[in-house]
Amino acid sequence: MKPWKPSRIYVEHSEIDTPLVRRLQSRLPEIPLQPVDDLRSAEPDRFDDGKQMLVAQRHRGTFLQHCPAGTSGLVCCNYLVMNFGSNCPYDCSYCFLQEYLANNPALKVFTNAGDGLTEVDTVLRARPERTFRIGTGELADSLALDHLTDLSCELVPFFAERSNAILELKTKSNVIDNLLRLDPKDRVVVSWSVNSAVMMREEEPGSASLDERLAAAAEVQAAGYKIGFHFDPLVAHDGWEEAYRDTVTQIFRRLDTRRVAWVSLGSLRLTSQLKALIRQRPQVSRTALTELVVGDDGKERVWRGLRVKMYRRMLQWLRDVDSCLPLYICMEPASVWEKTFGMIPSDRQVAQRLVGAEA
Ligand code: SF4
Repeated sequence: MKPWKPSRIYVEHSEIDTPLVRRLQSRLPEIPLQPVDDLRSAEPDRFDDGKQMLVAQRHRGTFLQHCPAGTSGLVCCNYLVMNFGSNCPYDCSYCFLQEYLANNPALKVFTNAGDGLTEVDTVLRARPERTFRIGTGELADSLALDHLTDLSCELVPFFAERSNAILELKTKSNVIDNLLRLDPKDRVVVSWSVNSAVMMREEEPGSASLDERLAAAAEVQAAGYKIGFHFDPLVAHDGWEEAYRDTVTQIFRRLDTRRVAWVSLGSLRLTSQLKALIRQRPQVSRTALTELVVGDDGKERVWRGLRVKMYRRMLQWLRDVDSCLPLYICMEPASVWEKTFGMIPSDRQVAQRLVGAEA
C-alpha cells in the first residue's frame, strides 16, 4: 500500500510558519501550499473530494471528549477521544464520517497538537488515582497521515512518561515507521480495525490489506507496543462464519496473544441518514443490503438475536486461541452483554477488564 498523498494543500494564513506546515512543505515539495483566510473557502462541495485534499489549520475548542457510548444508555468502557484532525483518506462504505462531516468534509490536520497535550496533561494531573484510556482514532485514522505529520512522535513520548494513561492509536493503515523508532514504555496500544476478507477488500477502499495490517502489527509488537484488534463492524454477509473465523486464525497465527491489550467486537450500526448516503455510493454495499432494526439509541442494527449469535461465535473462536484475551463488545446495552458474556458488568468493570484501569 502506498502512503497517502493529497492532491492539494490549503493552509490557514496564520499557521504558515508552524512546524507542522513546514514539515508538510518539506515532505511534499511538489504540492504548492495555498494560504486561505477564510477556512470555509477550502471546503469542497462533495464529501469524496474532501479526501483528496489537506487543510492545515489551528484547532479552536477542546481536543478531549468522552466517547459517545458514555451518553446513550449503553455499557461504556470509559474511553476518551482526542481529535488532532478530521476525516480520513480511506473510504469505508459504512463510515459514519460521511454523515458527521457532510458539511465540512475537507481532510484536516491541526497545527496546535501541543495545546491538546497540555489539555490532557491537566486532566491526568487532576486525577492521579484514575487510569485513563485515550484514543485518537474517532474522527480520523490515527496513523494514516503519520508519514506527513509525525504526530506519533509527539504523542508516544508524551504518554510514555505518564503513569495514569494508556494511548490507543487505531488504524487501518500500515504507516508505522515512526513508531518503530520510539519507545512506548508500555503506555501505548496500537490497534487495527479488521474484518472478514471480503469486507476489507470490497468495503474499505484505500486501506491496507489484512496481510499488510498484520505485518505492521507484528513489527510494532516486536518493537515493544501492545496491540489491539477491533472487529467492527461485524456484518452478517454470506459466509460470515467461515470468513470471520479465518480472520481470527490469520491474526493469531502471526501475533503473540500475551502482548494483546484488547479485542473488541461491534455490530454494524447506522443512522437512517447514513444508510441513505451509503445507498448513493457508486458501488452497491453489503452494509446497505443488511436488514436492520432501530434500537433505543435511534441507530439501526441487525436484530438482537443475530448480534448475540455473532458475538458468541467470535468469543468462542477468540477464546479457543487464548482464553485470557481481554474482550469486550462496543456500543451495546446491558441485555446484549448478559446474553453474550452471561453477566452485566458496570462501566468501571469493563475498564478494569481492559487495562486494570480505575474508572
Ligand atoms: S478507516 Fe475509519 S475513519 Fe477512515 S474511512 Fe474507514 S471507517 Fe472511516
